[in-house]
Amino acid sequence: MQLSDLKQLKIAVVGAGYGGAAAAKALSLLGAHVDVYEQASRIREVGAGIGLRPATMNRFREWGIFDAVARVSSPSDYFEILSADATPIMSESWPGMDDYAERTRTHLIHRGDFIEALLGVLPEGMVTLGHKLEGIEDKGDHAVLAFANGTTAEADLVVGADGIKSVVRKLLFSEKEPVFSGEHAYRAVISLDDAEGMAADDNLRMYIGRGTKIYLLPLRHRGQVSFDITALCPDGTWAPEVTKDDLLATVQGFDERLVALTRGLDMDTVNIRAVYDIDPVDTWHTDSVVLVGDAAHSMLHHQGQGANSAIEDAGALADALRAADTLPEALAAFQATRKPVTDELQRISRAGWSEAGIDDVFPGQKPGSPGHVAAPAVPAAGKE
Ligand SMILES: Cc1cc2nc3c(=O)[nH]c(=O)nc-3n(C[C@H](O)[C@H](O)[C@H](O)COP(=O)(O)OP(=O)(O)OC[C@H]3O[C@@H](n4cnc5c(N)ncnc54)[C@H](O)[C@@H]3O)c2cc1C
Repeated sequence: MQLSDLKQLKIAVVGAGYGGAAAAKALSLLGAHVDVYEQASRIREVGAGIGLRPATMNRFREWGIFDAVARVSSPSDYFEILSADATPIMSESWPGMDDYAERTRTHLIHRGDFIEALLGVLPEGMVTLGHKLEGIEDKGDHAVLAFANGTTAEADLVVGADGIKSVVRKLLFSEKEPVFSGEHAYRAVISLDDAEGMAADDNLRMYIGRGTKIYLLPLRHRGQVSFDITALCPDGTWAPEVTKDDLLATVQGFDERLVALTRGLDMDTVNIRAVYDIDPVDTWHTDSVVLVGDAAHSMLHHQGQGANSAIEDAGALADALRAADTLPEALAAFQATRKPVTDELQRISRAGWSEAGIDDVFPGQKPGSPGHVAAPAVPAAGKE
């Protein structure tokens, strides 16, 4: 679209999570007028870490916000998968680090720092809190939003970035409910001093056994480690009641240091939730409404790609608006670019992790397989 048309565009983003904040940044850089409506009265994130992949960090470079994110994160070279007794199974350099003019590593970040950094680069006043979307009317060339507080807003384009329980998705695209995975996620951030020496570098380690996965994601810039347990459990209550003994039962048989870390957890600081995703949604857009992030394609966290995909959606949506002649064409192009990628991520994330299943997700990457590329023994220094 022409710059003059983009400048006329009024965009309403529903949800100020990673997808909404990133969409707001990317779309406002096009010159469009962007307003973000968030249901919460204060934005908070779970105490846990995530890895921002090279493609995500490269988008931040494009948007001029790389440093704002890098400042509160640690660059990482590889991830490793180990058995429950800490025997290495495979390690792999983060894919895509050398795909850009500048070497771009994955960055490990606390979720709270990440949303703060993203919202911190939006112009003052762009985000309006306390606006819970309840209704949406698609009028063809524009849409009207109705909020629980009685206010309404009109926009040429509505971006539904309202997460796994998306109201926008439910009202316009799919009434299907999220799907329970049969797992719980227990997430906490602990001090490096309490980490039994298990976070000596900036690389992610995942320990797997008997259906349990333990992720240790160092946040050494904060003197902390994100300690996450994903365990099989038939209770699909969104916020289940779980005791320390339950946690200890799920890590039974794991390396003694991991058991000690679990024993030392302060249960008041552990975020406990049942894990859900959604089935792929056939259509993500009309001519004036589009879904991004979890609203479009919530996936299980086993590939660590949900938040990363939300950022990539934001970048792809801005690219499509710039390249297409009209808004409807741009939305169709956006879906054509992103949906095949996220359909596949949703599929392989459901495949989960088991020692036997690693070859399905990383063909040829298990040590001994033809084509296996080991992570560097000494992490390579990179300029970023
Ligand atoms: C256990 C676990 C571990 C994970 N680990 C990783 C990882 O390592 N790496 C990774 O990339 N991803 C990971 N993810 C996935 C990641 O958290 C999500 O994909 C990501 O948060 C999606 O961002 P989003 O902005 O689309 O949705 P959300 O983060 O859910 O944000 C949606 C926003 O919309 C607001 N909202 C909702 N409804 C309304 C409404 N009606 N009106 C107004 N506002 C509304 C919400 O309050 C929220 O602020 C993990 C997820 C889980 C559960």
